[in-house]
Amino acid sequence: MKSAETPEPRDRSGFDVPSPASFARTTLPGRVVFGNGTLNQLAPELDGERRHRAMLIVSARQRELADRGRSALGHVMALEWNEVRQHVPRDLAERATAAATTADIDAIVALGGGSTVGLGKAVAVHTGLPLVAVPTTYSGSEMTPIYGLTSGNHKKTARDPAALPKIVVYDPQLMTALPPSIVGPSGMNALAHCVEALWATNHDPITDALALDGAARLQRFLPKAYTTTDLAPRGEVLIAACLAGTALGTVGSSVHHALCHLFGGMYDTPHAETHAIVLPYVIRYLEPAIPDTVARLAEAMKCDPAELAENIWALARSVGTPPGLRAIGLTKNQTDAVAEEAVAKHLVSPRPLELRSLRAMLREAWSGEPPRTTRE
Ligand code: NAD
Repeated sequence: MKSAETPEPRDRSGFDVPSPASFARTTLPGRVVFGNGTLNQLAPELDGERRHRAMLIVSARQRELADRGRSALGHVMALEWNEVRQHVPRDLAERATAAATTADIDAIVALGGGSTVGLGKAVAVHTGLPLVAVPTTYSGSEMTPIYGLTSGNHKKTARDPAALPKIVVYDPQLMTALPPSIVGPSGMNALAHCVEALWATNHDPITDALALDGAARLQRFLPKAYTTTDLAPRGEVLIAACLAGTALGTVGSSVHHALCHLFGGMYDTPHAETHAIVLPYVIRYLEPAIPDTVARLAEAMKCDPAELAENIWALARSVGTPPGLRAIGLTKNQTDAVAEEAVAKHLVSPRPLELRSLRAMLREAWSGEPPRTTRE
């Protein structure tokens, strides 16, 4: 308790040091196995959990990955499911759940990007069975208890402890097959998780540390992970994705994710690209409301706080992010409609949403020009 009798402590520079704010948090459970070749630990990991009839979920588009998954699971595999779609349509989740029940499986293994992990989460929630995630993108979904289901053009997300993978196997060797066009936006999606975790309502010093370290790693290693298939930078970005997912999965999301979910739900936009495009503009929009957060993030990312938004825009462009929402097929009217929906829904935001300025911000994101005009 502060009082006139107990003056604030002073640091070495003589400035007052405020007492840390109170917080309470629940640490998310789960086992993480990281290392080159860890895919081959899948069967022993399942064995350790006394699980012997696994359902392997892997996209039909990833034939080589499916071969590797099958051979890693060996005799533990009881069912393979290959239909995977972005944003997990509800009927797809229901059909996969029915197949899991019919085959009497006792564990789910999701091998692939966020869409594959997302389907695994839905089946885990519906069946109550444990999920093992082996991510092959930087979505970070594997570290969160958040899952989404889409009906029509409406995506509904929810938190459920059953959606959180019991085991996550990170194998950097799997990342070397990922084309640069996916590495870049997917890495920027991880950065969006780190950034939003810093201003989401429930953030605390522990999640801040995870998010800032994730952002620093992305700033340092994402460009190299984009231009080469070297194991080291691709592995470092995988660690950043893990930090990002852990931070955001703990604190929950805020206005940036809510806007991107509106784009995804209303217009089926590609998830990682949408995040990668919109992020710098949201930072510029929120700057006046969160100067301390901007300063800390800029320090982690080694840039001037006044130029943080431009720096993140330049990083995004240097790793192949499409130049604006127009480049992923959206019209100006569609971005206006998202602005209207966001205001109507009263999205949680550190800076209250006001239609005129939000519309201007999203129009700038549509054009793809550097984020300049929506600071005020
Ligand atoms: P994705 O899973 O759709 O994958 C993107 C692309 O990468 C696809 O074309 C896929 O085929 C390809 N790909 C994946 N692995 C590959 C590999 N090893 N080699 C070559 N190509 C490969 O997209 P994503 O960005 O990873 O995930 C997006 C989905 O995840 C969205 O539905 C989003 O809502 C969800 N998500 C959820 C959370 C959460 O916490 N719940 C967090 C992030 C993302």
